[in-house]
Amino acid sequence: MSKAEIESLFAQVIVDLPGVQPFDYSFEADSAARIQIGARCVVPLGRNDRVGIVVGLNRPAIDANRIKPIKRALTEIEPLSSHWLQLTRFAAEYYQHSWGEVALPSLPRAWRSVPGARHAQSLSRWRERSQPRWAEAGAPNLKHTSQQAAATDVLINASGFAPHLLFGVTGSGKTEVYLSAIARRLASNPTAQALLLVPEINLTPQLESLLRARFPSEHVVALHSNLADTERAGAWLAAHEGRARIVVGTRLAVFCSMPQLSIIVVDEEHDPSYKAGEGVRYSARDLAVKRAQLLDIPIVLGSATPSIESWALAQAGRYRLLQLAERVGMADSLQPRPAIELIDARVHKPQNGLSAPVAHALTDTFDRGEQSLVFLNRRGYAPVVTCESCGWLSNCPRCSTFAVFHKPDRSLRCHHCGYAAPVPRACPTCGNQHLKGVGQGTQRIEETLRALLPEAKIARIDRDSTRQRHAAKKALDAVHAGEVDVLVGTQMIAKGHDFQRVSLVVVLNPDGQLASHDFRAPERLFATLMQVSGRAGRAGLPSRVLVQTRLPGHPLFAALARHDYAQFAQTQLTERQAARMPPATYQALMTAEARTMEAALDFLRTARDQALQQFAMAASYVRLFDPVPMSLQRLAGVSRAQLLIEADQRTPLHTLLGAWLAALRDKRAALRWNIEVDPLEL
Ligand code: ADP
Ligand code: ZN
Ligand code: ZN
Repeated sequence: MSKAEIESLFAQVIVDLPGVQPFDYSFEADSAARIQIGARCVVPLGRNDRVGIVVGLNRPAIDANRIKPIKRALTEIEPLSSHWLQLTRFAAEYYQHSWGEVALPSLPRAWRSVPGARHAQSLSRWRERSQPRWAEAGAPNLKHTSQQAAATDVLINASGFAPHLLFGVTGSGKTEVYLSAIARRLASNPTAQALLLVPEINLTPQLESLLRARFPSEHVVALHSNLADTERAGAWLAAHEGRARIVVGTRLAVFCSMPQLSIIVVDEEHDPSYKAGEGVRYSARDLAVKRAQLLDIPIVLGSATPSIESWALAQAGRYRLLQLAERVGMADSLQPRPAIELIDARVHKPQNGLSAPVAHALTDTFDRGEQSLVFLNRRGYAPVVTCESCGWLSNCPRCSTFAVFHKPDRSLRCHHCGYAAPVPRACPTCGNQHLKGVGQGTQRIEETLRALLPEAKIARIDRDSTRQRHAAKKALDAVHAGEVDVLVGTQMIAKGHDFQRVSLVVVLNPDGQLASHDFRAPERLFATLMQVSGRAGRAGLPSRVLVQTRLPGHPLFAALARHDYAQFAQTQLTERQAARMPPATYQALMTAEARTMEAALDFLRTARDQALQQFAMAASYVRLFDPVPMSLQRLAGVSRAQLLIEADQRTPLHTLLGAWLAALRDKRAALRWNIEVDPLEL
């Protein structure tokens, strides 16, 4: 055996662990053919066996005698592609985690746990189960509006890496544009695959039937976190093996192995749920763009209210802006967009949550046999319970927040840590038996609505009403079928539904978000309000949107009333550029969790000092702010603090983070800390 061949009998393997990777392993010459880059394998690590992925075949970095052998090559599926390795490696470096921490958790459980004896059987079962299951209906023959046709044309003719921002008002037919562009890609190449990312799959049941109708003979799979393990394994495998030509999925699908991926669509690209809330805090939208760039393929980001980041990129010419300014079917008609009216809650004092003008509008709408939608971003009955004689408040014992009153089981529940207890019969401090729920949640509004409209069919959709599988879909189906007169709910009712008979949308108390310290709060509120108001008037019924607020003079409402997102976005962008905030600057957020706030702050102060001293050169291009308590200071008994890191350029920020975090990890802190690059919430 030649020297080169012997050297090649070492593999670099990544596993799901923090810290420096890959690790070196040896393997037998006769298994050489099976140990390929991208293959999964079982390796010994500490006392356990783990599944890892081979990312290189090379000379070992350490003394060859200390290297353990790979236990087993997992060859039942094709190795992961070099593109996939590139993508996960990029994500790991960008978000400051180990490669293995990104790559392995992105695989369905079946492909990242050590296979048991029955693995082979399961494998064939998954292959069978995820056969194409839709072969009905014909594609609806929609004649594109001229704007749809223009946008589709651009996408069809795009070649190479071409990012597009499809800015289209709610109801302008963006989905139709996505599907036409996908259809053309798939038609022009019999192996091509398409990836369609959506924020929330369970809330968009219509998308499935649309895809079914549009691609009757294609294998379409859905990937999201609510799938059973075996379903997910099967769907992933179908994509990995190229059998599935369309993958529609939530943020985790951005990592789905798709060897022939040819076009990517990110619907509702502004939606914060594209950002992972735990573990590696990646943005699936941003990674989708990176993936398109690595593959040199087109990508479309679509929204009625694009994120200010994407808006800025489109303004700068980095994304091509495609616009759908008219709602479908309304371009030539006299039908105006819904009128947005502000109800000043200081003048029209709400009774049990509803002001008189809102109550009248609801009654009128019901009397006309039309549907109403009541939006309130607060679940539960009342956000806090209080004792009026001594001032006791229902604090969560474990968090720096209130426990919310839930009426159906008379409980107090913390929406942050899950704490739940029965509502006390009497005030725990003074014994007063008349405790009072203060403020409004969706349960209370539902009660108020039932009293107001005793004849109406009223449904509520929020996280509590939809705990059971399919509950959300059932409730939404009922609304579509016209079986519901009034739908009350949280932002779950704002997303992409196509309700036909809704002619009134009521938005209750959005004021909390206006008062928020987070510089992204207005952007988020505007997006939600545009989205809910877009639910009205789809069938051409004259329609109204009523916003009940104590801050009717806020400039955000003026832009909202004009339906003018472009102007709002431009103002936001200008303000942020003037104030040196993202996207004009780049941020990372270090958080620490400890028993006491002092300990958490101390850790961050020490870390900050280390950055300033040990990495003074890199740190000189970066601003490290004073550590402060997080806005939710205590969560589940743990104190939390944050340190904001900011730079005018991305490179120095990443240079500092790379060196500094490695040093911090070496020191092995006694508390938990984390880093988030491009944080969405401060
Ligand atoms: P958006 O995603 O932009 O909010 P949708 O894609 O949901 O809008 O389209 C709104 C509605 O218009 C859908 O019911 C869709 O079937 C319909 N639609 C889209 N394009 C056309 C068209 N060219 N002609 C007729 N109806 C259309
Ligand atoms: Zn009391
Ligand atoms: Zn709590």
